[in-house]
Amino acid sequence: MFRVPGSVRCSRFALAAVAGAGVGLAAQVPPAEQIVPVHQESHHRQLFQHGAVRILDMQIAPGDGSAFHRHDWPVLLLGLTSSRTRRQNLGEEWVSEAAAQASAAPAVRAIRPTSTTSYADKPLTHRLENIGTGIARNFIVVNESAGDESMTEQQAGFTSKPELSNKWFRAYRIALSPGERTAAHKHNAPVVLVQVTDGKAVGAGAMSWEFNTPGQWAFFESGDPHAFANTGDARIELIEVEVRTK
Ligand SMILES: [Zn+2]
Repeated sequence: MFRVPGSVRCSRFALAAVAGAGVGLAAQVPPAEQIVPVHQESHHRQLFQHGAVRILDMQIAPGDGSAFHRHDWPVLLLGLTSSRTRRQNLGEEWVSEAAAQASAAPAVRAIRPTSTTSYADKPLTHRLENIGTGIARNFIVVNESAGDESMTEQQAGFTSKPELSNKWFRAYRIALSPGERTAAHKHNAPVVLVQVTDGKAVGAGAMSWEFNTPGQWAFFESGDPHAFANTGDARIELIEVEVRTK
């Protein structure tokens, strides 16, 4: 390591200058105190936080990249728009990944939930870069708890089969035709709703939530009765995410 004599405050400037001069990987690795948790990284905008639940909206423009950030908790992701990205784990090389069906129009590409739970046992520090031509946008639900395996889908208040299920999340798809509405119901878990297609709907519970573009969302606390109504003239799909906490 290089040292800047005299003043600690000079070190960041010196680091930037050295990194800019093209010195290798070691100079690019920030000290631990500069690595922020994912919800503090500027490309991951926090939309909501309550109890163990955080909702983040990750958006990275073409040519742009996130700072190194740390994942300490399991996440559920919905890729609202995709682009070619590459990622770098701290201390490792960049790895490129092709976005699946990156060229397909969002209207014909079904948005499916994915989840990474390994962060619970093994926190990860990495950064992302958008090397494609579209905006990379992920809707992210974070579960900052140990999860819960004790409750069945029925006990949690769901009647349909989840598209994704693990100890921290279960994700269910709700599809409503124009004029269609769900019955009022409640769950024994907090839920996050995310709109994944075009269309218009209203979600009514303790609070009222409007859905009118992909990425619109709602949150209902455990035990809070709610219902959804399609208020538009097209079919709409929402993903309901059960956040599993004890
Ligand atoms: Zn519900």
